[in-house]
Amino acid sequence: MRFARFALPLLVAACTPDPSPKAQAPAPPPAAAPAPAKEEKVALDKEELKKRLTPQQYEVCVFKGTEKPFQNKFWNHHDAGKYHCVVCDAVLFDSKTKFDSGTGWPSFYDVLTKGNVKAEVDRSHGMVRTEVTCGKCGSHLGHLFEDGPPPTGRRYCINSASLEFRGTEEKK
Ligand code: FE
Repeated sequence: MRFARFALPLLVAACTPDPSPKAQAPAPPPAAAPAPAKEEKVALDKEELKKRLTPQQYEVCVFKGTEKPFQNKFWNHHDAGKYHCVVCDAVLFDSKTKFDSGTGWPSFYDVLTKGNVKAEVDRSHGMVRTEVTCGKCGSHLGHLFEDGPPPTGRRYCINSASLEFRGTEEKK
């Protein structure tokens, strides 16, 4: 009986957060945190995407298709706002970095958030280009060229079909 009288409060205390400043201090980071693995990104569920996307969005995002120039949603779009990944909603580009490249595709000279846009070599169709994909879900976005305007000199040539636009009140 004596044991139970003392042990019960101890057991209850073990499950209750300690309000002392020491207990609220952030835990130190692990000594050797492994780099995020590719598997951590949002997986492309093709069947789910086929139902959710238009045929053109599906073709571009999953099979790296290219929409026609001057016949897509955002090539001549000038509203202020942000462009998101149509598949996973990651924020990709800002209208402030959009420029008229004359190509007929929406073009940006920079990304909005590093890591949300990934670039890697693409050797398809007998060309060596740099493919641009969503850094979160792997969805195809377009290609990157080094003939853009200052300050970056880059041209992210993106398919409208890969993008979802969210406008803001301010004007560009
Ligand atoms: Fe995405």
